[in-house]
Amino acid sequence: MLGSGSAGNATLVSYAGARVLLDVGFSYREVSRRLQRIHVDPGMLDAVLITHAHGDHMRGVRLLSKHHGVPVHATAAVRDECGAADWLLLAPDAAFELGGLRFVPFEVPHDAAQTLAFRIETPEGAIGYATDVGTLTPALVERFRDCRLLVVESNHATELLRVSPYARSTRERIAGGQGHLSNESLAAFVREHLGASVRCLVLAHLSRVNNLPELAEMTCREALAACGRDDVDVVVARQDRLTPTIDLAAWARPATLPPPAPRQAALPFHGAPAAHAGPGGNEVRCR
Ligand SMILES: [Zn+2]
Ligand SMILES: [Zn+2]
Repeated sequence: MLGSGSAGNATLVSYAGARVLLDVGFSYREVSRRLQRIHVDPGMLDAVLITHAHGDHMRGVRLLSKHHGVPVHATAAVRDECGAADWLLLAPDAAFELGGLRFVPFEVPHDAAQTLAFRIETPEGAIGYATDVGTLTPALVERFRDCRLLVVESNHATELLRVSPYARSTRERIAGGQGHLSNESLAAFVREHLGASVRCLVLAHLSRVNNLPELAEMTCREALAACGRDDVDVVVARQDRLTPTIDLAAWARPATLPPPAPRQAALPFHGAPAAHAGPGGNEVRCR
């Protein structure tokens, strides 16, 4: 995750040399800077996928595409908003492959036309990705059930939103079924629907005003503990920093290999996004 929150979202998914950027919610300059922190030049991207037409998901896409010719996959709603004509059409339920990865976009409730979540199938397991989602629908639950890694919104704490300085209409929009997911709603999903193969949960799109990283993490961990899921790790994605790389292959290695490093050493989530030490050098091995 290059960064996640109401002020900008971008996530890099890579496999066997293919690099796909999900959303470009930072300025072109900022997203380029963050990519360079992990030694990826914007020109090395194979594709960009845009989830929906909100600025915190597409702010830098036009310049990224213009300067580097990176193909952009976006819905008609996003293209209308950006005024671009030559992008590849992204449609709900129309799966496609990119560099050994299979992307299954599907629509989720949110206050932008055709907001998409993704199921991303890789040879190392599937990823569920939903950063802006007012309600976790049965279709999402089904598509996320056998994933290894889930990236799901944990936008606000219900009580903090209730006493928030936001106008009442804004608070109602955020809390509504077409708005953003609360810590408590994510916890209910964990208790009721978390698949047995899920090994890591990334909490995304935290509100700076109506949430605290520690609170989001605690609410999720309590839900995991309540259902005996101490095999699932929790990563809180932050607005102002990169999360360390999460390596899906770590779960697929044969049991005869030495066990992963102790958790304290393996999960430096809250430190600065130290320079990436090259392949495997700064990887999070969620267990
Ligand atoms: Zn949005
Ligand atoms: Zn957003």
